[in-house]
Amino acid sequence: MLNELIGAGALGAAGAFGAYWYLKFRAVLPIESRLRAAQKSFADFTSFTRETMERAYAPEHPEHYGDITNYYLIKLHKVFPDSSMLVFEKGPGQWKLVNYLKHFKVEPKLLTSYKWSAFDRSSAEGELLRFDDFRAGDYQGVEELFSVFDVRAVLMCPFKPAGGAAERLVVFGAASPASFEAAQPYLRFVTGQLSSISKVSDKVFTLRKETEHLKSEVSAVVKELDVAGSRLIQRARERKALYEVVTKAAGPGGDAQNGCSAILNIVAKMVEADVVACLLFDESKGELVVSPGAYGIKDEDRMLYSIPVSNQASASVRTFLGRKPFITADAQNDPDVLARYAKLWEIHSLMIVPISLHDRIIGVMRVGSKRADFFTPDQLEFLSIIADELAIIIEMFSLYENLSSTAQELAQLNKIKDEFLSTVSHELKTPLTTIKGFVSVILSGEVGPLNEQQHNFLTVTDQSVNRLTHLISNLLDLSRLNGKVEMEFQKVDLAELVRASVSAMLLKAREGNVTLSSAVAKGLPAVKADTRWIGQVIDNLLINAIKYAGKGAKVNVSGTDKGEAIVICVEDNGPGIPPEEQKMVFDKFYRGKASANQVPGTGLGLAISKSVVEKHGGKIWVESKVGHGARFCFALPVAKN
Ligand code: ADP
Repeated sequence: MLNELIGAGALGAAGAFGAYWYLKFRAVLPIESRLRAAQKSFADFTSFTRETMERAYAPEHPEHYGDITNYYLIKLHKVFPDSSMLVFEKGPGQWKLVNYLKHFKVEPKLLTSYKWSAFDRSSAEGELLRFDDFRAGDYQGVEELFSVFDVRAVLMCPFKPAGGAAERLVVFGAASPASFEAAQPYLRFVTGQLSSISKVSDKVFTLRKETEHLKSEVSAVVKELDVAGSRLIQRARERKALYEVVTKAAGPGGDAQNGCSAILNIVAKMVEADVVACLLFDESKGELVVSPGAYGIKDEDRMLYSIPVSNQASASVRTFLGRKPFITADAQNDPDVLARYAKLWEIHSLMIVPISLHDRIIGVMRVGSKRADFFTPDQLEFLSIIADELAIIIEMFSLYENLSSTAQELAQLNKIKDEFLSTVSHELKTPLTTIKGFVSVILSGEVGPLNEQQHNFLTVTDQSVNRLTHLISNLLDLSRLNGKVEMEFQKVDLAELVRASVSAMLLKAREGNVTLSSAVAKGLPAVKADTRWIGQVIDNLLINAIKYAGKGAKVNVSGTDKGEAIVICVEDNGPGIPPEEQKMVFDKFYRGKASANQVPGTGLGLAISKSVVEKHGGKIWVESKVGHGARFCFALPVAKN
């Protein structure tokens, strides 16, 4: 019984305990479950925002903005799978459905326009609007669409997409507003995010646009620079080629005709022409005549293209007479051009520039292309510059041609003169030797006694014959030196040669009351020389010194070792030579003004000496001051072992 009682008591206690706890927690439990639910929805929202924010990015192109909008809506739809997400875009007076997410009964038509004043209100207020039953208001225009989605209750929120697109609205629709409390922060968050992303994206787009614009500007500038650079290089190359041709053509051995033709070739390349020709004025014919070497015209045909300057209908003639450049895009159809010539040249585009030298016009340059409308005013200007250069070259060429033909003529005349002198001298020498021989015999008295007058006359004859013989032997020497004289080079001691000359001249010096001395350094190195010819040089200098220094003068011969060369000088204290004559004393037949009438001579001694010394690889010169004598020196290179 007790046991039963205890059992009943325990049961009662347990029941009372249970009842107590039931009563105690009956009020607490719903609060706790609500708390848990709130905690869960908070956690869900936090993870939703975190996840979407982590994956958020600012699209770089406006079309990518649609992707990010979709991404948010999909995420939202996952949280609220029983709801529909519809996106509308603002149009003039109505809203266009551009996207949606949700199961639907019948597939709705996209891009159809709808009208509902609530859309405009939401857009105007920029705020979230809630309609627990949209039919409670003024809902015309959307009921059919909403019924497709089974939408009764609506939350809507506007946002502004990036890239300047029209304003949009997200419509969160459901059969009832049950989920609206929970959905509102999501919707606010999503539209808020979309708006901020759009702001960032807009910035990115403008920056990107600016960068792109800058990039394209920079690349256009770089391209332009590239083109200008390569054009400059091309021009420089062409100028260099032109310069080379001009230098070559105008230099020694240059070929005027080929030079001109090379220039016209370069001009043709520079302006990509098919025909380039110089038409120079021929005074005798009164015509502009194509000069040889034209580009694109056969030399045998060039006479066909001559134009009489009386023909003023020709653009070339007008350019020539008016000195103004001319350009046409189609010469064959231009009334200002003689079509006949344009057809002959087979050209359409044509440029003509005057070629003038200082104030004198000498012709025109005609540049043609088979293509119509091909040349530019720039090229015409360029051509005018080239034409100026060409004028100088043409003038230079004609001067050069004149000069070289004159030089050729002169050389020919000189040759004839040398040959004549050599022949005449040879012819004179033989009879003179005979005359001299007989005069000497008669003067010696071998063929009978002479009276005083006869003796005097014959002495004068003998002296004249001597002078004539001297002149002839000088002329012969000169003609030999001008021709191919064979020098017999050998090692020669110049001191020895000087000694021999001085002793041979002693008698002559004494006759002229001239003191002759020599001061040749001892042990002079040998030179390579022809003894006869170099001996003659020393003789000439000594004879001149004795002759021109005059009575009572002093003449000294010196010889010095200058290392590479030996220098021999003949110095006198006579009247000297004026500076302007010093340059000419070595010329053939030159005689000083003072000496010409007073001292006998031929004017050949120094010319012969110069030629001889130079044939030995040496030099000869004079130093003199008027009134203080003259010093003639020559240097010969020391002989190498
Ligand atoms: P030539 O003596 O026959 O006239 P050269 O050729 O030897 O011919 O000399 C040319 C000229 O140089 C002379 O006419 C003379 O005027 C001048 N000349 C040469 N040597 C002397 C000198 N020592 N002093 C002054 N004048 C001189």
